[in-house]
Amino acid sequence: MQSWQDVLSERLRQQRSQQLERHLCAFETIDATHLVEPSTGQVLINFCGNDYLGLRTHPALTKAFSNNNTTFLAGAGAARLVSGNHPLHEQLEQALADFLQRDSALLFSTGYVANLAVIQALTKRGDSIIQDRLCHASLVDGARLADGRLLRYRHLDTDHCLQQLQKASGLVLLATDGVFSMDGDVAPVNKLATLANHHRGLLLVDDAHGIGVLGATGRGLLEQANLGQSDVPLLTGTFGKSMGLAGAFVAGDHELITYLRNFARGWIYSTAPPLPLVQAQLRALQLIQDEPQRRAQLHQNINHFTQLAVAANLPLLTSNTAIQPLLVGDAQKALSMQTELHKRGFYIAAIRPPTVPKGTARLRITLNAEHTEDMITTLIHALTEINHAN
Ligand SMILES: *Cc1c(COP(=O)(O)O)cnc(C)c1O
Repeated sequence: MQSWQDVLSERLRQQRSQQLERHLCAFETIDATHLVEPSTGQVLINFCGNDYLGLRTHPALTKAFSNNNTTFLAGAGAARLVSGNHPLHEQLEQALADFLQRDSALLFSTGYVANLAVIQALTKRGDSIIQDRLCHASLVDGARLADGRLLRYRHLDTDHCLQQLQKASGLVLLATDGVFSMDGDVAPVNKLATLANHHRGLLLVDDAHGIGVLGATGRGLLEQANLGQSDVPLLTGTFGKSMGLAGAFVAGDHELITYLRNFARGWIYSTAPPLPLVQAQLRALQLIQDEPQRRAQLHQNINHFTQLAVAANLPLLTSNTAIQPLLVGDAQKALSMQTELHKRGFYIAAIRPPTVPKGTARLRITLNAEHTEDMITTLIHALTEINHAN
């Protein structure tokens, strides 16, 4: 019989032989768009972060953490239902509910856990979970963990979604990314809301990449699509993307949030978020409302990038959001393009399977409000050169 060590080394060997091994790089941050590689001292322009508005380095947020108000202990000390709940947690949940125009909200430690917890809490044996095939790993893993049956539909294909709805039984949870995290395109949420409504399904939209970025006032894809709480009863989001922090939330009506407080294991059995973080989260939520010029600048940068990329004939996926993937196909080729860009002073991590489907490795380029026109123009030149050379 093989030892466990041999089993694990064999799995790692296979991962390596397919050019799929993951490596960790350490970086120091200079500002919203510049990284330093400590081992070499090389300064790189970062084109693969999710800090779309440049809030990660905003002085108001760094200050929110270093506030020396002594009532804020480092940790919450327990789960919310035990003794870890503080008025500040509730203040933040109310502010989120107000901003997202929902009755209530519930804080989670991460978006990954929020999706696991919500799907597991809502679906039992005999229930159905319907998802777009390209949903984020956290929605997929939530369905794996839950006792409900998972039915997937082809990416953005509402006819196929309808067929799956017709096969569904029990409580039907229809879940989708708002903005697809590796593709940058958006879910047909108006159509999905109508379908869910006709089939008495509960629609969940994970707008991790839309909140702060889309909609006239940054309320995300649902604001852009003019959909409210009755159309999309559950909305999940994260503080880790446009809000430049970490942590997450779920928003919905009173009854749904009460249900989750009773049944969402990933919330019940987990320590409450530390108060310095909650204070910064409150500040970040205010900043996305108070500084709309960041959103406007981001959209200007997106337009600048897509115009140049189309003119240069680069194989971009179709996207109007901050996520602008360049399709490469082969994992090894994506890695060598990453290396070539690195030499030219840009950092863009290659995205390979299983994060994306086999044969669709890509450079997931992301734009940020603080990229300058010049940075974007030089990136396009570098991409054009490298794309021709490969
Ligand atoms: C990043 C992401 C998450 C996870 O959020 P974290 O707060 O980073 O754990 C969930 N869903 C989508 C679509 C994401 O892109």
